[in-house]
Amino acid sequence: MVEAKNGRALRTATQLVHGGTLRSQFGETSEAIFLTQGYVYDTMEAAEARFKGEAPGFVYSRFSNPTVAMLEKRMALLEGAESARATATGMAAVTAAMMGQVKAGDHVVAARALFGSCLYIVEDLLPRFGVASTLVDGADLDQWRAAMRPNTKVCFIETPTNPTLEVYDIEAIAGIAHDAGATLVVDNVFATPMLQKPMRLGADCVVYSATKHIDGQGRCLGGVVLASEEFIQTHIHNFLRQTGPAISPFNAWVMLKGLETLPLRVAQQSASAARLAEFLAGQPGIERVYYPGRDDHPQRAIARRQMAGGGTLVAFEVAGGKAGAFAMANRLEVVKISNNLGDAKSLITHPSTTTHQRLPLEQQARMGIRPGLLRLSVGLEDVDDLIEDFAQALGG
Ligand SMILES: *Cc1c(COP(=O)(O)O)cnc(C)c1O
Repeated sequence: MVEAKNGRALRTATQLVHGGTLRSQFGETSEAIFLTQGYVYDTMEAAEARFKGEAPGFVYSRFSNPTVAMLEKRMALLEGAESARATATGMAAVTAAMMGQVKAGDHVVAARALFGSCLYIVEDLLPRFGVASTLVDGADLDQWRAAMRPNTKVCFIETPTNPTLEVYDIEAIAGIAHDAGATLVVDNVFATPMLQKPMRLGADCVVYSATKHIDGQGRCLGGVVLASEEFIQTHIHNFLRQTGPAISPFNAWVMLKGLETLPLRVAQQSASAARLAEFLAGQPGIERVYYPGRDDHPQRAIARRQMAGGGTLVAFEVAGGKAGAFAMANRLEVVKISNNLGDAKSLITHPSTTTHQRLPLEQQARMGIRPGLLRLSVGLEDVDDLIEDFAQALGG
């Protein structure tokens, strides 16, 4: 459902409640979970027509499924993309977006500040199949320009980055990629689809870990790839069909229900994150706060231009290095220690010893991951309880 009967376009929050709904003959209010592997046909001729793509309908749930199709349609409406494919995890989405576009002899360029598994794909996996990769400082446009080669096929970024919440200029990087004949893939997890629309800024493909804000309550894994219909048909459709990282219809249903409340949750969690960033910046035990919505953020101008808010994550450095950060975090009572993010529960992690522990300390330092750095994913608790929790933990 893209528009009402009189042709008036419906707004995002409405699309996220009604968009893409497929009702069965029972007329159920809530979307149904079609927990089925296959589909039956009235006749052999009907099966033949469906397999040949001459008649609409489902064939096998590795290819498509009604509940999964509802999620894909609703995500495409949200992103403003022509087409979407849901996957079992965010990493399955990233893998398809990268592997689906390249062959041996190609080259990819990515910003160095990547989610650990994304870095593995770019740095380890692609080179094993003859796809060279170059890592650049994502904020330095000259490095992007210098990295382009005649065989560069794909550029890849996450913005804001994990864990220091650096913001990269999507429009400028898309321009550099396109000038070199390459595409730009953006992992938009940290910004969420509510606060940033990379395809409007020139990105060719957007990927999500739906595991994070789209579920939003820490239950199921899932991922989504979004792009033009042509991009999906050329690079993604067959890769997913034949290699098989399909999302379970049950998990797709959880994500669909998550989308209904996504605007409310992201607005509330972002408002709380901004309040917490402000509070933490005023505390003597905190040496530095990283939050894209703040005036002291190094890329505040880009953030203001391309994001509709500062997001739901805050990073900060605690005085006293690792020992100081551990002691403070261990005293938190409401905020839980976990490496996950985008949950209704506020979660805190120490990147240097968890999400980024695989990287040598000097590489961590180059990414701004200092020993006292903590990353906070702000949840749906009352923000005053979160502020009081940090106040007692810092005072202790
Ligand atoms: C979590 C995450 C992923 C991977 O998602 P999974 O659902 O865990 O596979 C990829 N990119 C970013 C930025 C993430 O936060």
